Amino acid sequence: MYCRECGQKLSLRFCENEGLIPYCGKCESYMFPQFSIAVSMVVTNRAQDKILLAKHVDEDDFILFAGYIKKSESVEKAIPREIKEELGLDVVKAKYMSSKYYAKKDVLMLNFIVVVEDRPIKLQEDEVSEARWCTPEEAIDLIRKGTTAEFFLTNAVKELKRKI
Ligand SMILES: [Zn+2]
Repeated sequence: MYCRECGQKLSLRFCENEGLIPYCGKCESYMFPQFSIAVSMVVTNRAQDKILLAKHVDEDDFILFAGYIKKSESVEKAIPREIKEELGLDVVKAKYMSSKYYAKKDVLMLNFIVVVEDRPIKLQEDEVSEARWCTPEEAIDLIRKGTTAEFFLTNAVKELKRKI
């Protein structure tokens, strides 16, 4: 491991309440590990009785809409930006649900239920080949099994029964 500021080789040093953390002797500072943050979105209509699933180009299964948070961007800004880019829709409201670290892509996923306006979708087709409105039962049936998306969707469906 090398320092991302000066390139010096890092050593491990004990940091109170944190344990052993990579340390740069030249910068005299701890280098906490960095990782990406993304939003995962269970998109629903105003009545909250339909869920929009995405099918990516070259894939068979359905997944949730998701996108990376840009550097210096807030999550509150990222959600409407992603929904506008991918679906051409405005967000009515969003509710934070839970998070899960996805090791394969070194990303912390923050899951939200996102209520969108009731208008036709303008799909951005270079990423998503199909977007399908489903009942909650259909969505659980169609989502790729054993995935983080399935975990988020299952929680969201329970929450949507009470409305957000
Ligand atoms: Zn350094």
